[in-house]
Amino acid sequence: MALNAGRPRRITVLGSTGSVGKSTVALLDAAAEGEFDIVALVAGRDWQGLAAQARRLRARHAVLADPAQYAKLKEALAGTDTQVAAGPEAVIAAASLPADWTMAAIVGAAGLPATMAALARGGVLAIANKETLVCAAEPVLAMARTGGATILPVDSEHNAIFQALDTRDPSAIAKIILTASGGPCRNMSMQEMAAVTPEVAVRHPVWSMGAKISVDSATMFNKGLELIEAARLFPVPESRIDVLVHPQSTVHGLVQYTDGSVLAQLGTPDMRTPIAHALAWPARMAAAVPPLDLIALGKLEFFAPDPVRFPALRLARDALRAGGGAPTILNAANEIAVGLFLEKRLRFLDIATVVEETLSRLGAPEAADLPAILAHDAAARSQAGLIAESRAALV
Ligand code: MG
Repeated sequence: MALNAGRPRRITVLGSTGSVGKSTVALLDAAAEGEFDIVALVAGRDWQGLAAQARRLRARHAVLADPAQYAKLKEALAGTDTQVAAGPEAVIAAASLPADWTMAAIVGAAGLPATMAALARGGVLAIANKETLVCAAEPVLAMARTGGATILPVDSEHNAIFQALDTRDPSAIAKIILTASGGPCRNMSMQEMAAVTPEVAVRHPVWSMGAKISVDSATMFNKGLELIEAARLFPVPESRIDVLVHPQSTVHGLVQYTDGSVLAQLGTPDMRTPIAHALAWPARMAAAVPPLDLIALGKLEFFAPDPVRFPALRLARDALRAGGGAPTILNAANEIAVGLFLEKRLRFLDIATVVEETLSRLGAPEAADLPAILAHDAAARSQAGLIAESRAALV
């Protein structure tokens, strides 16, 4: 299967040693010779992981954000044709190199400058970092228009909706529906949730993920952020985006049309599927994912999310409707609260309390450009810290 007629597709992976980055590299590694040409692999500080990937894929550039690891990376890649660099400017330079397809998988706000550089030079940008669209939607989407870049969502729910969405007539889209596994607290009482520890919160029933996103799944802030992400990506207002709890995590997203048709994307819960979809788009490629076995699964269940035990969805809708910097503030306050919870300095149910209080204190200030967004992010972090401190006395 040829993805690009005539020449290999030129690929850059931003965040190649994280979880999504590793899956992307594994798919590139398994592809046929000549299918892909690896322009740049960019990582944070894991020089060993990056050097191994660069050797394996014969990457033209290997770049670390942390300049302190430069010498080790340089030595590990001695004798190869890979060019080595390190530091924040080198990361932006790597993201600016001509490429047809870029994976944006650097975690958190740290990935924003490189993502903007990749958008500015055009091509396809696969976005795995949801904070990019939650916090910086206006500048990111404006840069995509300027650079002529195409954004493809990699988050499994949004990738599912992208696959099921027919945008030729936006007025025919009645609703888009994101599914949520419900996380480890799905069947807990309020009292049980009050006693949830970091160990319980990170034990996700279906997906294996990092600590932050696992806690977000337990509080359902992950789905709240995804609701905001969906409103940024798709031509559908917040009022027509629904969330459905679906413990089997097999139906990843659905689109309901005005004629009553509902199109859904199903699959074994495995991030390699949405990554492969984005990597091969508009074609498809093999991803070595276990095929979905609906007979073995037997049943698919769906429930309405409980707004009392999971206030995160309401807070995300409020932030989206308020607009401006409110989603940035929600995201930053949640990051601070989750960090304190993981350090056992904040109780599980106080994560949402801290976010709600931060939102009510800071409101929805104007957020049209990156400096304004970064200022709201910083203000929300310090405000959330103060609020959490007053709650932490209760732990
Ligand atoms: Mg998701």
